[in-house]
Amino acid sequence: MRDDGLYAAMMRRGMTRRTFLQFSAATAAALSLPVAYGPRIAKALETAPRVPVIWIRGQACGGNTEALLRAANPTAANLLLDVLALDYHEELLAVAGADSSSPLAGLASRYPNGYYAVLEGSFPTGAAGAYCLIGGRPAVDVAREVATGALLTIAVGSCAVDGGAPAAPGGITEAGGIGKVLSGGNYIALPGCPANPANLAAVIVHQLVAKEAMPTDMAHRPLAFYGNLIHNQCERRPHFEFGQFAQEWGDQGAQKGWCLYKLGCKGPETMANCPDARYGEKISWNVSSGVGCIGCHSPSFWGAMGPAYRRLPSPLPFLPNLTTDLIGGAMVGGIGAVAVVHGAGMTIRFKRYKAQERRAAAKAAAEAASVEAAITAETPAIAQAQAQAGAAPASAAVGTEER
Ligand code: SF4
Repeated sequence: MRDDGLYAAMMRRGMTRRTFLQFSAATAAALSLPVAYGPRIAKALETAPRVPVIWIRGQACGGNTEALLRAANPTAANLLLDVLALDYHEELLAVAGADSSSPLAGLASRYPNGYYAVLEGSFPTGAAGAYCLIGGRPAVDVAREVATGALLTIAVGSCAVDGGAPAAPGGITEAGGIGKVLSGGNYIALPGCPANPANLAAVIVHQLVAKEAMPTDMAHRPLAFYGNLIHNQCERRPHFEFGQFAQEWGDQGAQKGWCLYKLGCKGPETMANCPDARYGEKISWNVSSGVGCIGCHSPSFWGAMGPAYRRLPSPLPFLPNLTTDLIGGAMVGGIGAVAVVHGAGMTIRFKRYKAQERRAAAKAAAEAASVEAAITAETPAIAQAQAQAGAAPASAAVGTEER
């Protein structure tokens, strides 16, 4: 394979300069960068090397591969299949048998400049890993070998991130996600059922351009894609605010674009960029199609986010009928009750204050009356004293004053 850089490979594959720039601008948008970063990404990609990609699939339905192959154009599929060197992907290999496993042998010497590892599906460890084999070896061992030596490891889809459906309650294969493969460290997690291939392309482009992995949350999920609630980005959100809810699937409200909350939409509990990234050449996503979000980007969603089309069950096991609706209603009712009690208390307090005021006024009036009565009673004695004082000699009076 000629290695004259990514841009040359893109041009050889029939991509025009225009579509290349569109791809760069779309990637900038997916990375939550301003549009002005599109040309910078294009410039960096022009000189970026082609990096081999090894795609390992464990226990899974292959939905992430399907989503990749049906993505928009220019696409993650273009990037991975045509432009980067996808050296190993079981579903897409032309060869079979022992030849198909040859890219997995001697990874360090075969890829001296490094490679990217993409993991799809869960990895069972029950029965010594025999539930899922690659080339006769437990898939978990092969994945560990590939991921350990990679420049970057990306877990695509919920099965690869935390085990998904095979690890849901009732599973017997002891399946798990990338945690079974790597004990920690340096990987990117793209949960979703399936993960959005546009996000996968953006992760790879970011790595090629910035030479470092994207900023992530503690669960290794890129903040650019998993940093906001679906509910906050949803096109039906204004109807939620105005209390306009579909009551049944496909009813008039649903067709008018009203909110699907009452039908169990998990958008208020799920962090992902589905409303913006969308699927299938950006045509649509669950809520646009009228079926509601099932929370597939959330951790352990097969067990934790069900039932798919009802509000989440009670968080309190001893109150099995308690739902988030009831909790919200109780909180609103509680606030109303507090307001009523507060109002009643204030009324009683005001009445008491007024009664006190009346009692004080009555007491003051009674005291004033008694003083008045005392004065009236003493008035004749005072008059008499004044009269006697008027009859005394003036010198005595003057003498008294002078003392
Ligand atoms: S449809 Fe779902 S995500 Fe959209 S506003 Fe309603 S509850 Fe939120």
